[in-house]
Amino acid sequence: MTYDANCPFCRIAKGESPAEVVLDREDLLAFQDVNPQAPTHVLVIPREHIPSLEALTEQHGELLRNLVRAINDVASQQGVAGGFRVVTNIGPAAGQSVRHLHLHVLGGRPMRWPPG
Ligand code: 5GP
Ligand code: ZN
Repeated sequence: MTYDANCPFCRIAKGESPAEVVLDREDLLAFQDVNPQAPTHVLVIPREHIPSLEALTEQHGELLRNLVRAINDVASQQGVAGGFRVVTNIGPAAGQSVRHLHLHVLGGRPMRWPPG
């Protein structure tokens, strides 16, 4: 497993930093966002340090399937199945502040479009 010692989400994945974990699987983790933007705001991350969605390759097929399954499981568990948003920011121009792939699962309030 590839970790980055300076990455806050790697530290959470390794159990070195605390997080309110809602789903804990072999290759991924889901935890409450520390600064929630909606009543439901959970981050789904691979345990492996992957900088963003852009860095995923053919080799990540199984991980990608598992991430999608985890997103849907989180939505059910949090009571927002059938009405939620999944966001992943890629790079500074899109507002990515943590360079470890994370999928925001947002719900529990009406969502506007377009996003800011
Ligand atoms: P980004 O801006 O990169 O798309 O999203 C990063 C998200 O991670 C933000 O919503 C921010 O609140 C959250 N975040 C940053 N650091 C931590 C942390 O140490 N713990 C948790 N639980 N969330 C964090
Ligand atoms: Zn990382």
